[in-house]
Amino acid sequence: MTEQYFEMLWDCAQCGAHDLLGTTHRHCPTCGAAQDPTRRRFPQPGQEIEAKGHRFVGADWACGYCESPNSAAAAFCGNCGAPKDGTKEVKLVQPDVPVSPAAPTPTPTNRAGFRWIKLLFALMLMGGALLAYLFFSQHEQRVQLVEKTWSRQIDVERYASVSGSDWCDALPAEAYQVTRTREQRSTRQVEAGQDCVDVRSDVGDGSFTKRRECSTRYRSEPVYDNKCSYRINRWQVARTERLDGGAALAPAWPRPVLGNSLLGGSGLGAERLGTRRENYRIKLLSAQGKNWTCDLNPDIWTRLSQGQSLALKVRGTGGADCASLITQP
Ligand SMILES: [Zn+2]
Ligand SMILES: [Zn+2]
Repeated sequence: MTEQYFEMLWDCAQCGAHDLLGTTHRHCPTCGAAQDPTRRRFPQPGQEIEAKGHRFVGADWACGYCESPNSAAAAFCGNCGAPKDGTKEVKLVQPDVPVSPAAPTPTPTNRAGFRWIKLLFALMLMGGALLAYLFFSQHEQRVQLVEKTWSRQIDVERYASVSGSDWCDALPAEAYQVTRTREQRSTRQVEAGQDCVDVRSDVGDGSFTKRRECSTRYRSEPVYDNKCSYRINRWQVARTERLDGGAALAPAWPRPVLGNSLLGGSGLGAERLGTRRENYRIKLLSAQGKNWTCDLNPDIWTRLSQGQSLALKVRGTGGADCASLITQP
């Protein structure tokens, strides 16, 4: 397939004639001045004129004496007769395709601001180091155990009919009273045609070529699926029972009365015991009147007695290191 060529346009600087054709008008038809290759330009899109029968033999050379453009095939300047030797090719006209915006020029560094940032950074670093020091530095403090408390909780679960909703392909097997609706589940990308632009390039002999560049355009499309609303029987926390006490009362679990336990715990409305939680806490007081609270594991809590004097490690930040109580005699 032969390449298609179009006429570059040029304007005559001598007489002002404009829109002259790059390959047809090597000289101005009005005043006879030679074509100036630096004044070549692309026509408006849609007003391109094909250079019929044009054969590309190479970019023009500019005469070293009179600057006239000459065909690559010519051995002598058509304007002044000078030989081709020691000449250079004409400069090509830059394509008119949108160029990427220039890289943003970096804003000159504000030296004073930079110093401020360095100072701020140094201060933050010092602050961090101070906090770390306060956290890890400890001193020992004599304290008195002034209060022991415990709390125990049990969840009571009831077998009940609850509502649920899932995509139908993930419907639980035990679901009932199922109703389906159509809902958007995701999106997919579908082809929506082509975006094409003509890229024009000056070949340097008064003509230019066109190349079509296309890219596929996509649009997103909703994807629908079946959504299932249903009811299902599940064990659910119905209430929580709790017992609290101090040093005088030994820790014990609450004893919830379970509803419908006669059914054997399988029918709707049946109840069973669920998760258990327990907490063992002591309050500590220093001679200076400062106090701390520690949550302990039941073994250590049991071993300590109310009114006892203890050695507590206190952090630089003022918090108690409750783990230091483990090593008490
Ligand atoms: Zn002219
Ligand atoms: Zn010449």
